[in-house]
Amino acid sequence: MRRIGILGGGQLGRMAMEEARKYLAHIEVLTPDYPSPASDLADAAHVGPIDDYESVLEFAEEVDIVSYEIEGVSVSALRELERRGKAVLPAAGILEAIRDKHVQKGILAAAGIPTARYAILDEAAAGRPSPGSLEAAARVLGGFPIVQKARSGGYDGRGVAVLGAADDPRALACPSYAEERVDFEKELAVVVALAPDGSSAVYPCVEMVFDPRANLCDSVLAPARVGDALRAEAESVALACVRALCEASLRSLSPAAGCAGVFGVEMFLTRAGGILVNEVAPRPHNSGHFSIEACASSQFDQYVRLLLGLPLGSPELLRPAMMVNLVGDPSAAGTGDAACEPEYRGLEEALAVPGVSIHLYGKREVRPFRKMGHLTALGSTPGEAVTRAEAARARISIRGR
Ligand code: ADP
Repeated sequence: MRRIGILGGGQLGRMAMEEARKYLAHIEVLTPDYPSPASDLADAAHVGPIDDYESVLEFAEEVDIVSYEIEGVSVSALRELERRGKAVLPAAGILEAIRDKHVQKGILAAAGIPTARYAILDEAAAGRPSPGSLEAAARVLGGFPIVQKARSGGYDGRGVAVLGAADDPRALACPSYAEERVDFEKELAVVVALAPDGSSAVYPCVEMVFDPRANLCDSVLAPARVGDALRAEAESVALACVRALCEASLRSLSPAAGCAGVFGVEMFLTRAGGILVNEVAPRPHNSGHFSIEACASSQFDQYVRLLLGLPLGSPELLRPAMMVNLVGDPSAAGTGDAACEPEYRGLEEALAVPGVSIHLYGKREVRPFRKMGHLTALGSTPGEAVTRAEAARARISIRGR
């Protein structure tokens, strides 16, 4: 069986390993932090930077196929590995097409995928866009406020700023672009698994609820509470998106690489009732965690199947589900740099709620709003799943000791 190497030590790698055990798969990780959620379960953990060319090449010698659970890895190392005939999934070209969000937007727009209007910004004033550049963008985008986005490196809402005027002090100092501010009713997401033979597994469209305090995903409801036609449209747009990104990278892909991977597609449902794609991630996604308990084959199962060259499983939703991210309490210590060991309270009470499962990621340090785990509640109806998830969430707190 292929030996798998994953770059990154976070919870996505950890949950992939939990599924990989079923197939007796051998997985090694390269992680900058040790111990880490993924290193705990790995067959071998290598400690080193994942964005360093040499470090990635050296790690890859130990394995047959290389993947990544976060976008910030050395793409030039992945390209070199492909050149040497090593399997990389998703291929380096796909990561390159996705991780610069401005490039990604261009590909989606050229493929006719509906997305928010956008405009490039300069980096005139100490890395910040000049007022003139912001004014020009606002003119194209229908006026302020506009949404400034870092071209790369954004995660969980870092790298996104809503600007009310050309001299708004909240402007980010990094290579960035601007988008029109979308007036949305809901945020939707669809996870798509694509196999090298072109077959696909498209998960049911879910609804994401954001926590405005931390600007990160608070919870996910599957299926989304929208009509059947909209759900079907979101699912077909998501698949079209992933295929478009793969097509666009094909030119730069080595023939052996193929277009394979698990992708998370985030979308807006506008107040006017249309769907606009926000962004695509080339990895299992927070919006797909519900699938561990709620679907025939989870997003992590699909990921491992792809890494092992096995056929895709069924993404069928077996029961309605709500997933809630379990984050560090807003008042969790961790104010200074001192490590703050997490203390989990109320797990027993939460697990007494019918249909509830809990996943803890094993992070050694808790900080306010840091994702420490998640819970999923199944129900016979979406309403029951929500009631159970909220009841369980109310019983849990994660603070520092
Ligand atoms: P990240 O990669 O950091 O998660 P996103 O592009 O997903 O960044 O943006 C984070 C959140 O900011 C989105 O989920 C959404 O709530 C809000 N947002 C992003 N783009 C827009 C936009 N064009 N209009 C309105 N809100 C937006």
